[in-house]
Amino acid sequence: MPLTTPQYRIGLAANRSHQDDADSALVRLLQDGKAAIETHLRPQLVVVGRTLDAMQRHRLLADYPSIERFPYGREGGLMMLVSRVVDPDPVRALDAVIYLIDPVDPSSNFPEALALKRQCVIHGKPFLSTLAGAREWLELEAIATGAAPDRSLDGMFDPANEAIALIAHDAMKPRLLELAERHFDLLNRFASRCATGTTGGLLNGLAQKMLGQEAGRNWVKPYLSGPMGGDAQIAERILNRQCRRVLFLEDPHVARQHEADIQLLERAARTVTDFATCCSDAGSADRWLTLLALRCGGRPD
Ligand code: PGA
Repeated sequence: MPLTTPQYRIGLAANRSHQDDADSALVRLLQDGKAAIETHLRPQLVVVGRTLDAMQRHRLLADYPSIERFPYGREGGLMMLVSRVVDPDPVRALDAVIYLIDPVDPSSNFPEALALKRQCVIHGKPFLSTLAGAREWLELEAIATGAAPDRSLDGMFDPANEAIALIAHDAMKPRLLELAERHFDLLNRFASRCATGTTGGLLNGLAQKMLGQEAGRNWVKPYLSGPMGGDAQIAERILNRQCRRVLFLEDPHVARQHEADIQLLERAARTVTDFATCCSDAGSADRWLTLLALRCGGRPD
């Protein structure tokens, strides 16, 4: 896969509790990610009104030239971001969205907020809803441009001390198996892997093929099947900071009876915003895993 880096256009918004304080998620993201943004990626930023007000108040990216103001949320700013995610015109389209979500803020469940994520998944564009996920993405994409790693982040890239959750809806299971096979070396370096029931069984089958019957048998710890509560079990591990990363290939075209469980898992990730990362779409997962392998110091898969 070529590691060329486009000039990104990134949509940016944050719920209120993530933008008001001097140590809020937005402030930390734009202070710590300043070099990645200003020096390496130089993206165009499309920022929803109140979030841009907060940036100006905190003097974040104060001299950065490529910022477009979108209306306030109540005037449709978030709705317009959704339209830009799906826009076929490359001069208008967003390539990624950073939306720092506070799961107890009612606006995080407004239709436009849900549609924003869903359309990112459908169009294969990263949707970054936690501080850790957004910071990591900026770091990985900066590295793709040839930047040196930010050593202050080394603790985030230590798979031998981390767990990863792997989940896929039925239509996406073949895609997850494909990704797991291609990035097996990286996934195998994690201290542990967990999955929902059916996905876990399939992944252990793959691991047996790769490592041998015995060695691969318990490669992934399978929890209950998603519809039976496996998502909630994995959420508890995230809330206890025992599992940092979630690769959850969602099928956005199917209505599911256990939608509440899926939302619960995502809310858990957002609740520990400074810790958890969540990748939901197959489109960006391959690049994410490739860059993660580079940053973690192994050979690229
Ligand atoms: P499964 O659960 O791995 O048990 O199929 C995934 C889901 O559908 O949530």
